[in-house]
Amino acid sequence: MRIVILGCATSTGVPIIGCKCRVCSSPNPKNKRTRSSLLIQAYGKNILIDTSPDLRFQALANNITRIDAVLYTHSHADHTHGIDELRTFNFINGNIIPCYGSPQTISSIKRNFGYIFDGSLSMGGKPQLKMIPVTDTFNFEGITIVPLEVFHADWVIFGYRIGKLAYITDCSGIPEKSFSRLGGLDLLIIDALRYNPHPAHMSVGQAIEVICRVKPRLAVFTHMGHELEYEELLKQLPEGIMPGYDGMNLYIEDP
Ligand SMILES: [Zn+2]
Ligand SMILES: [Zn+2]
Ligand SMILES: [Zn+2]
Repeated sequence: MRIVILGCATSTGVPIIGCKCRVCSSPNPKNKRTRSSLLIQAYGKNILIDTSPDLRFQALANNITRIDAVLYTHSHADHTHGIDELRTFNFINGNIIPCYGSPQTISSIKRNFGYIFDGSLSMGGKPQLKMIPVTDTFNFEGITIVPLEVFHADWVIFGYRIGKLAYITDCSGIPEKSFSRLGGLDLLIIDALRYNPHPAHMSVGQAIEVICRVKPRLAVFTHMGHELEYEELLKQLPEGIMPGYDGMNLYIEDP
């Protein structure tokens, strides 16, 4: 199974428009982050987690020419506003794309992007999507996908587990039920927004606490803000934990 970090920024992206801080003005490409999204390739299928506003750029940068399914974590703008880019994959793949998420997420997306789902024809075309609400473990083309309920401020949203990978973006806490589903991981990709606490996201310290409890073979940070400088953070982190970067490729056994 191949895993590609398409984007690992918080909602603003890094650099932030107009910001001249040392991270936003850093020449290091690993400090240039698009909005958080993940690609999972297993058994010839391309599974996308979230449709970030940067999806078009991410697909071009990583030569993604096929999307077989989308898993939505939640309906915040930084995770959904690239939804219209799925149209291009309809054109080239000729498939209606199944999109999974919690019932709340699916109904919010249908409301926020009503033009896609109103049944009308559009001169410019609209993405052809099949929205599928899920509440627990489901199967896509023989791949078992486990939604993981996590807290995101006062929301309960989804992370996902596929085989020995778990992806938890936008998380301020993990309920015990979900901790019980995080054993035996090869790779945990987890929210680490900044050093200081935040009501809707984990800090670096909180993410490390979760990692120490879950004990994946490797943990990678995502949804990072401009407070986090790649090289500086990498040096501080214990072995087996590293910051992600856009275009990072990771390989673990098939699910
Ligand atoms: Zn987010
Ligand atoms: Zn900045
Ligand atoms: Zn969010």
